[in-house]
Parts: sequence; C-alpha cells; structure tokens
Amino acid sequence: MPLRLYNTLSNTLEDFIPIHSDEVKMYTCGPTVYHYVHIGNFRTFIFQDILRRYLVYKGYRITHAMNITDVEDKIISNARAQGLSISDYTRKYEDAFFEDMNALRIQRPEIMPRATEHIDEMLDLVSSLQEKGHTYEREGSTYFRISSFDQYGRLSGVQVDEESTFGQVDEDEYSKENPRDFVLWKGHRDEEESWDSPFGEGRPGWHLECSAMSMKYLGETFDIHCGGVDLVFPHHENEIAQSEGATGKPFVNYWVHGAHLIVEGQKMSKSLGNFYTLRDLLDKGYNPLALRLLLSSVHYRKQLNFTFDGVSQAQSAIQRGNDFLLRMGEVTEDGPASAVVERIVEKASAGFEAAMDDDLNTSAALASVFELVREINTLFDSQNLNSGDRDSVLGFFKKANTVFDVFNLEKEALEDQEILELIEERNKARGNKDFKRSDEIRDMLQKKGIVLEDGKEGTRWKRRI
Ligand code: AMP
Ligand code: ZN
Repeated sequence: MPLRLYNTLSNTLEDFIPIHSDEVKMYTCGPTVYHYVHIGNFRTFIFQDILRRYLVYKGYRITHAMNITDVEDKIISNARAQGLSISDYTRKYEDAFFEDMNALRIQRPEIMPRATEHIDEMLDLVSSLQEKGHTYEREGSTYFRISSFDQYGRLSGVQVDEESTFGQVDEDEYSKENPRDFVLWKGHRDEEESWDSPFGEGRPGWHLECSAMSMKYLGETFDIHCGGVDLVFPHHENEIAQSEGATGKPFVNYWVHGAHLIVEGQKMSKSLGNFYTLRDLLDKGYNPLALRLLLSSVHYRKQLNFTFDGVSQAQSAIQRGNDFLLRMGEVTEDGPASAVVERIVEKASAGFEAAMDDDLNTSAALASVFELVREINTLFDSQNLNSGDRDSVLGFFKKANTVFDVFNLEKEALEDQEILELIEERNKARGNKDFKRSDEIRDMLQKKGIVLEDGKEGTRWKRRI
C-alpha cells in the first residue's frame, strides 16, 4: 500500500510517489531561536518526526533538512537590547532546542543549516531573481514583485488582485511599491548587524533562507516540504515564488501542513504569551515522552487542545505499554507462537500500517497498539505464553516503536540517561507509595545488570561486572 498524504498544493489526498523510487528529500521550517521553543512548535516538529520515521519504516532512505532561523527582526532587537552579537544571543536557545529535541526523541535531521551561514546562497538567489526581472529596489531594500510571478497564490489560494490587502500582513515595516510585495533584502538601518552585498549593506528578508537552503541541500525540485498551517501564507507562498521565479522549475511536489496546538481556543504562541515550554512541563514533574505521545496521538491536521490532564493520560498509557513489555519479557518457556497470538499480531500490524498509510492517522495506529496490549493481556491472564508468542508480539512492538518511540523496549544495554530516568521514576513511585511500580523498576534494572544503592544522598547506581 502506498502512503497517502494530504497535499496543500492540490487540496487533496494523494499517493506519495517520490522523485527517486527509494529516497525521499524533505525540508521542514525550523525554529526561530529568539526564545525557548514552546510545546506548540514541538507539536509540529513531532509530526514531522513521525512522518520521517514512517518514511523510513516504509523502506525509504531519507535526507531531511531543517533550518535554524538565527537572523530576523526579534532576534536583532533582543540581541541589541542585551548588548550581545546575534550568535552569542541565539546560541543559548539553539542549544536548548537540541536538548529538548533529544528529550522528546525527535530524530535529528541530516542537515540543520543556520541562516547566518548561508548569506551567500541567499544573495545568489536574489541575483537570479533580479536577472529574471522579479525584483525592484526601494529606499535601499530589494523586493520581490508579485505581479511578475503568475502562479502566486496557488498554494494558499490567496487572491492577487489590486484591491487585496494581504501583503500588509507581512511583518516587515519597510515601504514597498505595492503592499503585496515582500522583501528579499532589507537595507541597513541604525546599528543593526548587517552584511555587504551587491544590493547594498543589509540583511536577508525572512522568507529567503528557506528557499536558498532547501535548494542547496535537496535540489531545485524535491519531494516534501512541511510546516505548521500558519506558514502556508505568506511564508511558503513566498518560498515558491522565490524558488520557481529563479529556477523556472517546480519547487516542491508535496506540501504537508500540521494544525496547531491550541489553549482555550487560541493558538499557543509566543506573542499571545499563552505558551509552555518543555522545561515548564519537566519542572511540574512530567515525563517528556508523555508529551511526545500526547502530541503525536491526534491526527496532525486536527487541532489539539492542550491540557495537563492530557499529558497525565499519555503518561499512564506509556506506563501501560511498559508494564506490558515487562510482562512479556518475563516469558521464558520455549515454544512456537500459537495461532491465536499470530492472529492478534497480524491484525495489529495490518491496522497500524493501514492507519499510518492513511495520511498518518496516528490515533488509529496507536489504537491498534493498545488493542493488542489489551488482547494479549487478556489471553495471558488465562493461559501461559511461550517464547514464540513473546517474540512475535515484541517484533510488532519494536516496529511500531520505531515510529512513536515512547516505550522502553529491551535493549542490549541501557544508556546512562535512561537509567537516571528510571531511577527518577522509581523515586517518584516510592514517593507516591506505588511500591509495585518501584519494585518493578528495581527488578528490571537488576535483570539488566544495574545495581541500585539507596542512601541518604539519594539513589546511586553501578553496573554489575
Ligand atoms: P517559529 O519558530 O515560530 O517559526 O515556528 C516553528 C514551527 O512551529 C513552524 O512550523 C510553525 O508553524 C509551528 N508552530 C507555531 N505555533 C504552533 C502551534 N501553536 N501549534 C503547532 N505548531 C506551531
Ligand atoms: Zn521556512
């Protein structure tokens, strides 16, 4: 079965057919590093992670690029206010972003270019656009003339008529020939950090970096471009105009957009101030994987209302899965898998893939996983399972977990960080007088050769040699 994806360009579900049969090239708009990335942003980054992992599950090789926006208006004004250079100001938030990505098990894209390190590529793009008559200059800034690009509006459906005022939503404050046009290169002002260029001293407009960097690393035409829905217009519309205006070739075949994380009916956003960071959730004692499961459990094109209750429920669901895996790990009796277990596993596996192929229906895919947990647990209550049953069930779980990555599967050795997380979970369980869980964790660690020593200064651990 092919994967079907909803393409914003055609407004329909389409079979996904990459340019090269076994390889996918994908670009996702990355974070603007002027603050800690909030969990609304992470909803989009997790949906993109699930997409990339499912493409790998389907057997494709993947080259994924995600930019780091480290130059734009807010960065420049915040850095100036703190008397820091752009790189000193942004590096702290970039590092925090990588830490949060690790905690949320978001796989690192193969290529993560910074905007400030690709100014030459951006200038080359502006030069190509200038040669083809798509640009004009006004008061030291260079603009893209939308009327020079017939296809403008194809992605977002925005109307390009004389009366339309949509260009005014573009955040730049510079004067333009026409409010619909957007800036490619902003002329230097005040003390702002700037670069020399054939278009005068200045800095890039925000849209430029994604066109320049995606085409540099993925080619002039590539397979998938993702982002949150707020980026469809003007950002992605402008990316198409810049790229296709310069190359005369189609830019991207599949545009895939995720819906927002909302809080009490409003988009979670930095500007509204109604946001939480991952750090806020960790301070409240939540497990990052619970957030990962919550954010990936609703179909990416449906809005998701954030509640702490939702995080707690996701945490319990992970625990149910992990308890089940511990129970399976205890099966030692040798023997072949029984027909009934094979049937349950086949049904779960077919359900999982059919759901994911259907435009990444993650809620239905997870329902297949938890239905299997319920059915196998029921079976286990009334009869013994053997090693064939165990391997068949764990085989399915391992595959599903390559996409969702929230369960603790048996591994050869635990990483230090995982041990610390389990010790923390055990301490919390003990604090809540949940001794069943705390003993389970101690026993599981013991089986893996990790010995715990509880002392006055907390719990210490060592590997048994
Ligand atoms: P930004 O750092 O603001 O450029 O956003 C990074 C990514 O997060 C973009 O793909 C946005 O579309 C996405 N995004 C921003 N706010 C939300 C939200 N509340 N829910 C989901 N995605 C969001
Ligand atoms: Zn972008």
